[in-house]
Amino acid sequence: MKKSKLVVIVVIALLIGAFFALGGHRYLSFENIKAQQSSIQALFGSHPWTTALLFFLAYVAVTGLSLPGAALMTLIAGAIFGLLWGTLIVSFASSVGATLAFVVSRFLLRDWVQARFGHALRAINEGVAREGGLYLFTLRLIPAIPFFVINLAMGLTPLRTWTFYWVSQIGMLAGTLVYVNAGTQLAAIETPSGILSPGLIGAFVLLGLFPLIAKRAVEFVKARRAYARWRRPARFDRNVVVIGAGSAGLVSALIGATVRAKVTLVEKHRMGGDCLNTGCVPSKALIKSARVLDQIRRAQDYGLQQASATFDFAEVMARVQRVIKTIEPHDSVERYTELGVECLAGEAKIVTPWEVEVALADGATRRLSTRSIVIAAGARPFVPPIPGIEDVGALTSDTVWNLRSLPRRLVVLGGGPIGSELTQAFARLGAQVTQVEMLPRILMREDPDVSERVMRRFTAEGIDVRVNHTAKRFLRENGEKVLIAEHQGGEVRIAFDELLCAVGRVPNTEGYGLETLGIPTTRARTVETNEYLQTLYPNIYACGDVAGPYQFTHVGSHQAWYAAVNALFGGFKKFRADYSVIPWATFVDPEVARVGLNETEARERNIPHEITVYGIDDLDRAIADGEAHGMVKVLTVPGKDRIIGVTIVGEHAGDLIAEFVLAMRHGLGLNKILGTIHIYPTLAEANKYAAGAWKKAHAPQGVLRWLARYHAWMRGEK
Ligand SMILES: Cc1cc2nc3c(=O)[nH]c(=O)nc-3n(C[C@H](O)[C@H](O)[C@H](O)COP(=O)(O)OP(=O)(O)OC[C@H]3O[C@@H](n4cnc5c(N)ncnc54)[C@H](O)[C@@H]3O)c2cc1C
Repeated sequence: MKKSKLVVIVVIALLIGAFFALGGHRYLSFENIKAQQSSIQALFGSHPWTTALLFFLAYVAVTGLSLPGAALMTLIAGAIFGLLWGTLIVSFASSVGATLAFVVSRFLLRDWVQARFGHALRAINEGVAREGGLYLFTLRLIPAIPFFVINLAMGLTPLRTWTFYWVSQIGMLAGTLVYVNAGTQLAAIETPSGILSPGLIGAFVLLGLFPLIAKRAVEFVKARRAYARWRRPARFDRNVVVIGAGSAGLVSALIGATVRAKVTLVEKHRMGGDCLNTGCVPSKALIKSARVLDQIRRAQDYGLQQASATFDFAEVMARVQRVIKTIEPHDSVERYTELGVECLAGEAKIVTPWEVEVALADGATRRLSTRSIVIAAGARPFVPPIPGIEDVGALTSDTVWNLRSLPRRLVVLGGGPIGSELTQAFARLGAQVTQVEMLPRILMREDPDVSERVMRRFTAEGIDVRVNHTAKRFLRENGEKVLIAEHQGGEVRIAFDELLCAVGRVPNTEGYGLETLGIPTTRARTVETNEYLQTLYPNIYACGDVAGPYQFTHVGSHQAWYAAVNALFGGFKKFRADYSVIPWATFVDPEVARVGLNETEARERNIPHEITVYGIDDLDRAIADGEAHGMVKVLTVPGKDRIIGVTIVGEHAGDLIAEFVLAMRHGLGLNKILGTIHIYPTLAEANKYAAGAWKKAHAPQGVLRWLARYHAWMRGEK
């Protein structure tokens, strides 16, 4: 235990001990207070300010230390100071005292409780983070829940201190008023338990529940108002219509069909969406060809005197298309039709909350009525309006796959995952690539040491990485395309043959009825949804890239489960989309994979953490493979083996992280990973060695010293 915590515990124990030793509990009894009323009032009469201040401090101490007697002190306040001043003094003193108790409970116990029970408390933590103020207000007004219990329990949750303070001040006001008012008639009160009549308790509970009920009511009224201008059909042809057959739409449709709902899936372009046609699949296929080339170039590292490859870029791109063709049947109309989904090729438009109009590929139009709609319309590459960009022409992740000759000089705009993956792939295929990023490093979402490792590799492979460069304009000069970028206050010119723009993707929210229905979008331009993925109209859901906040295939599929299940069974039970353990990988070399928090985020959010790093350069299999580089970085709760985040950099990082994803999802700590047999020699052993490094750092040194003495004694040494 930390010294500071020990000091606080000792001080609190001494204060509480002193309170009881000095007879505080006897003094703060109802009978004693009544007997002492006139002498206290006399003291107030002679020293009003001193009495008020001492009373305030005593009240703060009693509530801050969670001692019994706050209710009685509130009565005394009424008796001495009257209704107005009594209420004012008690209101502030009780809020300050409660906040002190809250802060102490947080300081002493929160880390321990969250480390031990964090997994089980996840739903409560999420609820408090979202609506903690409302819950606190309700609790404050339910007299059955003791005041000090709320202070201590709330300290263990993620509720912000300031929110706790002001909600407490407002929430306790009604109770304070009732007690202070009763205190003004102290002589007439026989017993304090009679102050709160059953009627008054009922009124308090209602008042407490009011904000929660009001919030739900506002949501209900908003939905009612949104629905009001539409006529609901008496019956529906379908249970769900899904718009878009990308990862999110396909999974939504599949879940619907699996539970025997009548589902129609509408796709205006190609089944499989971005991931299959222009995203994950082609990019990974291209990366593989580029990687093979890189390995051939490194033949000597593997004891091969010489190896070379001749290739045609057009053939590499043809292979990319062949890979797509091979995977295509997984997402095809035939497969989904067989699975029970009605697939329509056409453009969908929501015309009422229960009707979708489909402009079919053959020119005809169909109007479908449906109980629910799932919007899974995806996103598209964003091309920033930089002067001259249209003139020079920009490739995007949509169009780059049409290239059949390798650009000699390629500028990649963007240092995010997509920009970085394509940068390295094109460079390895032989293009002279300049990657331009306006931020101070690429892969900005990851820790600086991770970006650094990737940047070092990029530079070693001949990529010209330009961070802190902001693209200002494009122009043509002597028949050449040129990018003018701003760097350190000056202008830099970069000549190129092709430009690939990878600066982000915008959700598709226009042209299919959101505007007509008035479905709002967020600042990030995603469709606005609640935690159940419902839009303004509770029967219309959104998932995948169009809903955010993540833009990954696996997150789209994950959300699709919630959207489909809530759309079909929400009348019985709705499920909140759970984003607690989201992994991702960037398929550059060295590969970067992450789950949970990284160091930067933990620091920014003031989350206490310990860091354990295992260097993969030490791993037998990595050495044998000629890939001895990278690291496993694990963040844990201080003193505990509970994992709060992992970043892996190195060969197959995206596969290796799966073990940590499982561990985090199911609350398994590093001890469990260490206690699991990993096959030798594999890269997966890196996970176990990271757990081992953590264990070593937490070895009980005292016990080990005793063991050394024991063994010495066994050897007969003195
Ligand atoms: C180059 C690149 C590499 C990527 N690599 C990875 C990766 O390695 N791993 C990963 O997890 N993610 C990756 N992603 C992201 C991933 O592709 C997306 O997160 C995923 O495809 C989103 O799926 P979705 O279903 O939300 O949308 P989409 O796949 O975009 O599908 C939406 C579909 O809706 C259709 N549609 C839109 N409006 C209508 C309408 N009105 N009527 C009918 N149909 C409509 C569109 O035609 C489209 O087919 C990558 C993306 C790119 C661009």
